[in-house]
This record gives sequence, C-alpha cells and structure tokens, in this order.
Amino acid sequence: MTNSAGPKRTRSIRIGSIFIGGGNPVAVQSMTATATEDVDATVSQIRMLEDAGAAVVRIAVDRKSEADAIEEIRRQTRGNLCIDLQENYRLAEVVAPHVDKIRYNPGHLYHHEKARPVSEKVRFLVSVARDNDCAMRIGVNCGSVDPDKVGEFENDSIGAMVSSALQHADLVEACDFTRFCISLKDSDPAAVIEANRQLSDARPDIPLHLGVTEAGLPPDGVIKTRIAFEQLLAQGIGDTLRVSLTVPNSEKHQEITAGNQILEDVKNGRFRSVPTFLEGKLNIISCPSCSRVENDAFVKLAQDVKSMTDYARNHEITVAIMGCRVNGPGETDDADLGLWCAPNYVNFKRGPELIGAFPYEEILPRLKEELDRLIAARP
Ligand code: SF4
Repeated sequence: MTNSAGPKRTRSIRIGSIFIGGGNPVAVQSMTATATEDVDATVSQIRMLEDAGAAVVRIAVDRKSEADAIEEIRRQTRGNLCIDLQENYRLAEVVAPHVDKIRYNPGHLYHHEKARPVSEKVRFLVSVARDNDCAMRIGVNCGSVDPDKVGEFENDSIGAMVSSALQHADLVEACDFTRFCISLKDSDPAAVIEANRQLSDARPDIPLHLGVTEAGLPPDGVIKTRIAFEQLLAQGIGDTLRVSLTVPNSEKHQEITAGNQILEDVKNGRFRSVPTFLEGKLNIISCPSCSRVENDAFVKLAQDVKSMTDYARNHEITVAIMGCRVNGPGETDDADLGLWCAPNYVNFKRGPELIGAFPYEEILPRLKEELDRLIAARP
C-alpha cells in the first residue's frame, strides 16, 4: 500500500534504490540480530531478510571493529543498508561510505564528548550523510529520550518524545538537509499512535518510520504492533515500518512477513485490532534483540518468561525483558518487573529499583517469587 495522500502527503526521500514518502509504497524493514563483526552470519541474515522482502536492513554499530566489518558486509550484499548508531556517533564517518542510511537517537548524543554541543554533533552527522549519499533517520525511543526533554515534559513522555524529534528535525534542516525521516517508538501501542499523530500534525511533510519497540514474542508482539499500525496507516500516517519481534535468528524473516501482512490487511480493509490492548491482563514486553545482545540465551529466556508467567495472565502486570545494557536499564523502568541481560547474569528490577543480578539458571524462580509477591499485594 502507499502512504498518505492529500494534505498529509509527506515528502519523498531516497534510501539507496527505494523512495519512501510522497505516495511511494510503505517500505517494510528489519534489523540484524547477529554479531555485526561476524560477517558471514550477518550477511546470511541480511540475505534471509531480503529474500522475505525487506526493503531496508538495519545493522547496529557501536564499536570500531563493527564499523570495520561493514565494508565487507557491503561487498557481499546489494540491498539497502541502514546503520544504527548509539553513543559512538563518530563511527558514522567510517560506515557511511558503505551504507544508504544512518539512524541516530537524539537521546544518545549526550554521552560522548559531553562538552561538544548536540547541534554540532548533528551538523557532523548531516555532513557525513550528505558527503556519502545517505538518508537519515532521527529515531526517538521511549526509554532513551533526551534528558533535557524529560525534565521539561515531566509526566508527559509523549510530549517529550515529540518535542525532541521536532527539535532535531529543525537542527537537521538548519543544515539544509531534508532527506530524513523520523521514528517515535514506545512499547505501548497507544503511545505510538498518539506520538505519531502529534508529529504528523506538527510536521505533515516529514516521512515517518513506524514501530512498536519491544513488542515481544509472536503472536502478542504482532498483535501489539498491528494495533498501532492499523490505526496510523488507516489515517495515512507511516511511510516505512518495522515489526520488532523477539524470535531466534533463524526466524527473523517473521518481522517482514508480519509487516507485509499488516499492510495487506489494512489495504483491504481487514482490521483485526480492538482499541484497547491487554486491559487487566499480563503484558510481556521484550526487545527483538540485535547485535548488541549480551548473551545468546536471551530469546530462550524471553520465551521461558512468557511460559512461566502464564499463570498470572489475568493480572494487570507488565514484565519487560531486554537483551543488553544499551536499552535495558532505561526501557525496563516503566515495567512492574524488569530483566535485562548481561553476559553472565540477568539484572532484575522492580520498577526503576534494581533488586539484584542473578545467574541465568536462577532468574526464573526469582522472578516467580517477585511476581507472586506483587499479585498478593494487589487488591
Ligand atoms: S535492548 Fe539491546 S539487544 Fe535488545 S534490541 Fe535493544 S539494543 Fe538490541
């Protein structure tokens, strides 16, 4: 299906061999979850995703050794590649010659070179993108919003996300660069709908990348995502999208098939969602994993948590499971109980408070104990 028409028509931008926005078909994306330095595994996953129909494949790069692997990955693949930067934004200049798009997270530009103004860092990223014929994505995530915006929009997480994205759109455009899109991701489909509506109202010209972050395991992860996408796409909002699922590496293609299925259904008027999701029910959120995952046992842990907690399905409790320290600490803060993986142990939280770190083989009984306590304490 194509994106918005009429007054909400976004501008068209090129990402390698495709265009998004401006009435072009909505592009379905995915992201690799292999170690980026493992060129063979990463190339094979990219091919699997492309065979399933991925229009763009994103690869995380945090270290110089990962950035160095991108040149060889590019040599072995022909599709459209996007790099996902975190704190180490300077790696953009190493990878940009080999990719088609650069994604940065405004909330992560504060960590390195603290004395350097964020506006200067954005100018650097734009000049790298321009010099290397790359598009950009300003990717705002609920768990890592610019700290200044969090302070300014106390108790309004959506307002903080939208304001941060708009501020960065201004910064990028001030460099005379318009070849970018924006994403506003949250694990709550309702927040994704509201944030994207607000952004689209404020800047109907900017293409939007849709996603529900940490949607979790299928089928729930697909249902959560569908709820957000159906509502937004039906209003003409969304130019590219990703369905983020917690699945083993061999099943990553499910992200593409699920995305295409949702697009097909919306195009044909088949709406399966209801306006509320899991009201009064257990909500398991988990990240889709990526090359940053700290232990390969993560996907199995997420699956085990889902089965073990089934007995609590009629309790309104959120359990979050994240694969690494990059997004784990922040994105578990709003859950009742949160787990995030380290190489040899699992960090365990009650809300924002750290309970402790436990070996992988001990975490499930510890989680059950805490879950039982939470259920007993509620009316
Ligand atoms: S939490 Fe970490 S491992 Fe999971 S998708 Fe996010 S960055 Fe990747």
